[in-house]
Amino acid sequence: MHTAMLNAVINATPSALIVVDAAGIISHIYITGRPQTSLALFIGKSFTRIIRLIFDTHNSQLIYNTFRSCQTSQQPTAINQLKHNSRRHLTEYFDCDFTPAPEQNVIIFFKNVTEAVLLQEEFFTITEQHDTLNQELCTAMANLDFHLMDLEHAHKKLSALYRITAIVQKTVNEQEVLTEILDGITRELGFTNAAILLLDPESQELVNKAHRGYNDKIRIPLGKGVTGYAALHRELVYVPDVSADERYIPGTTDAFSEVAIPLIVNDQVIGVLDVETSEDRVLKAYDLDLLRSLASQIAMTIDHANHVTQACIQASTDGLTNLYNYRHFQTILAQEFKRAHRYKRPLALLMIDIDYFKHYNDINGHRYGDDALKAVADLVRQYCRDTDFVFRYGGEEFVVLLPETTIAEAHIIAERIRKAIAEYPFQNSNNQPGGALTVSIGIAGYPDDANSETELIDAADAALYSAKRSTRNRSCLYSSDVS
Ligand code: GH3
Ligand code: MG
Ligand code: MG
Repeated sequence: MHTAMLNAVINATPSALIVVDAAGIISHIYITGRPQTSLALFIGKSFTRIIRLIFDTHNSQLIYNTFRSCQTSQQPTAINQLKHNSRRHLTEYFDCDFTPAPEQNVIIFFKNVTEAVLLQEEFFTITEQHDTLNQELCTAMANLDFHLMDLEHAHKKLSALYRITAIVQKTVNEQEVLTEILDGITRELGFTNAAILLLDPESQELVNKAHRGYNDKIRIPLGKGVTGYAALHRELVYVPDVSADERYIPGTTDAFSEVAIPLIVNDQVIGVLDVETSEDRVLKAYDLDLLRSLASQIAMTIDHANHVTQACIQASTDGLTNLYNYRHFQTILAQEFKRAHRYKRPLALLMIDIDYFKHYNDINGHRYGDDALKAVADLVRQYCRDTDFVFRYGGEEFVVLLPETTIAEAHIIAERIRKAIAEYPFQNSNNQPGGALTVSIGIAGYPDDANSETELIDAADAALYSAKRSTRNRSCLYSSDVS
């Protein structure tokens, strides 16, 4: 029987033969004209499930019941002229023979099955599975897109932050830092207008320190405008449409949205980062997030630059007189000497020493001595020109470096300083030898008196010694008084 049916299948009568085991699982399947490899996916599958995929509820119930009764009664059964409406509205009639086999297997023989129907049904099944898979894939892709967007934003943010942090390491000048930061913001993030305003603690105004695209004269009182509001309330202010916000003070012509973020260091508002965008650059949540991170970086960067500047000033100035110290003198002398040498320009140096200062200290005490020292420092600075450098060279000795100055011009300035000091009403100066607190000054110049920095110092020192040896309260030229 089995062989006969199998032969019928093999002999190309359009039919299908299925063997279902006791558990309802398909163990064999043969379909006319179909190679066994293409049918392998049915093996091991539930007969009921396959039937349900192919037939409607009524037919699949009928086939299942007939299968069960054959299985339990062990009697051959049949369904003749089973009417099947395919999903493409084709009507087919099958004959189904159910034949019991050993171990509760049932052989089911679908006769006159057209291959077209079978293929069609199989195609639908596969299409359904494909659709489900496709949907799952779409969801996964959408999720992936979302994560990629997040990653891109995170990457943008990190690279902008990285660049700004890198600025801190190479720049100490506050103005340079601010300009570099704004370049970073406009270049990396595509904002056309950005400004950093710093709070002037005295006037309580926000002063535009660096900007791209703004009116650079702008000063905004604390509490006024969007920036002033952000600084006063210490919070990020986002105005999506500036024309609808009465706080807005126009700083540019093409502003559409504005964001102001306070710059806070050690709990103190030091300024505001302000960004304006045109209508075609819509601000997103991640832009605000990024700007917030940038603002805290900027605040730290400014603070760092201030510390470095402060440290540099401290390292090069003298605490008592606020003049540049000996260390800084060496740096500036080297720099100015090189320049004078290269461009063949004159450079003069004054060496100033207070006369009988030990005496002044002995009579008035060290504290008054310090006051006099400070006053002398102020007078020297006052009677020099803006282009001259004044240094505290040692205890009560000062040096003035005068770029672009001949010996004759330096002599005039030295005399101006000497006279101003001699006439200054220092405390108890009438007790000094000569009745006043005075200074002696040695003058030397490049290229006339020296060919190197050391020679220049030595020449001025020799001129000073010459002044001391004569009357004191004098200025001597190395060229005429020593050499
Ligand atoms: P002269 O230069 O006219 O030869 O006499 P002088 O008494 O000024 O002699 P000298 O330059 O050798 O002495 C320097 C004195 O300056 C010694 C010290 O008492 C005083 N001095 C140096 N540095 C300071 C300072 O920082 N504060 C005070 N109060 N005195 C200082
Ligand atoms: Mg001295
Ligand atoms: Mg002295």
